[in-house]
This record gives sequence, C-alpha cells and structure tokens, in this order.
Amino acid sequence: MAYMGMDAKEKPADMMSSNLETNMETIIYVTIPFGYSIAQDIFWKLYNQGYILKDSIDQLHCTACDRFLADRFVEGTCPLCTYEDARGDQCDKCGKLINAVDLGNPKCKLCKATPVIKSTQHLFLDLPKIEPQLQKHLDKVFKSGTWTNNAKVITSSWIRDGLKPRCISRDLKWGTQVPLPGYTDKVFYVWFDAPIGYISITANYTEHWEQWWKNPDKVDMYNFLGKDNVPFHSVIFPCTMLGANDNYTVVKHMIATGNYT
Ligand SMILES: [Zn+2]
Ligand SMILES: [Zn+2]
Repeated sequence: MAYMGMDAKEKPADMMSSNLETNMETIIYVTIPFGYSIAQDIFWKLYNQGYILKDSIDQLHCTACDRFLADRFVEGTCPLCTYEDARGDQCDKCGKLINAVDLGNPKCKLCKATPVIKSTQHLFLDLPKIEPQLQKHLDKVFKSGTWTNNAKVITSSWIRDGLKPRCISRDLKWGTQVPLPGYTDKVFYVWFDAPIGYISITANYTEHWEQWWKNPDKVDMYNFLGKDNVPFHSVIFPCTMLGANDNYTVVKHMIATGNYT
C-alpha cells in the first residue's frame, strides 16, 4: 500500500486528540463519498456483532462557545509541573501528556471563558473482546510474513500491556458522521476513520476493490510505515477489520522504519 506512510500525530494516552492534527492526506480520505459509506458500514458491522461499547467520559465544555473543547482548544496550568500555559493534551514544558480535565485554571482558547466539566456519551471499540482473533492472526503472520523486529516488538508490547476499549468518536463538527441514533452529532476519531480510507480510496479508483480488500487468502498486504504508526496498523486497524467479520484482508507483512528505543 502506497498510502501507509502517514505522519498524522497520535498520542495514545490522549482520548481527546483533535482531528485538526491530522495531515492533508487523511483529510482527503475522509471527505471522498465512498469514505462515508465504507466507514459507516464497517461501524455497523462492528456494532451489530457487539464490538462497540457506550460509555461516558468527562470533557471540558465552554458554555459561551457551546462546544466541547478538544485538547488544542483549552489551556491552563500543568497539573504535573505547574507550567501556566500548558495545552489540554500536553505540557510544552515537562512534555508529559495531560488529561484536559486535570488542568488548573482552564481557559477556552477561543473566548477565554472558564469551561466546565461535563459528562458526555461516547463510543468505544471493544479491543479486549477482539483480541483473541487478533492474537490468532498475529501468531500466523509473525511466522509466515516479513515483519521488522521493531514492528513485532511494538505490537507485542501493546498487547502485553493489555488492550483497552478505545474511544472512536469525537465531538467535532467535521469528519465522518457517526450513524448511530443518539450519536449523530459526533464524528469518528481520525484513527478509526483514516485507515478505512485506504479501502475507500481503492473503491474510489475501481469497482473491483473487493478483489483486494475482501480477499484475505489471496492478497498479501504489506505495510511500510514509520514505527510511530505501527500500533494503529498492527493492532487497531486489524481489530477493526477482524471485528467487522466481513472477510476483510488484514496486514500480513509490516516493515517499519526508525529505531526502537
Ligand atoms: Zn508540565
Ligand atoms: Zn469559549
């Protein structure tokens, strides 16, 4: 796949990462017409098979702006080092990841008002429930495929640390709309949506896209990518595909650049 060399920033501990962080490549994927139908179709398959969980999480909400403040839209005092201009996702001084609701003296970056904590419902991909299928797939392809050592190490360490349900929805105005009633004012998180864009862009190119993407026995999918993106392509995207249970092609070879430190 020529599209795997993404450089969208991802901060695994940060539930509220903004879609605005994504690169132009990803924006193109999610705005083509097919992007909507395939992402939503995969969501429904996951949902109908019990792989989507609902849970509430606390988020900062600006009453004046009438919006939830994704990490980049709020600033305040770092709870770890007391730096006063920390962002909602990360402190520039100590470099630690922050949960926005833990900021001291938080301020909306758009209007400078003080946001309040509100509980909001979100959707989660039940990675622990899909993990046995993922492990079975990895056991096979680690032996039969070509995997760089760093790709194997990063993947194995994610699984060893324990997979947790992963939030796949965001309170943002643009992106692929979540089709589930009660959640239609939300969009899919970019790391759920963007890899499905690989499929959508193939489908945009040819009506025979299923010969590649729903042909797991005959297609050998190779991923070439930076090591930062390994878990999204070796754990999360494969779980999305396996959980959909729709005969999708899942990665068999992974060549990651960069040194594992
Ligand atoms: Zn700090
Ligand atoms: Zn505001």
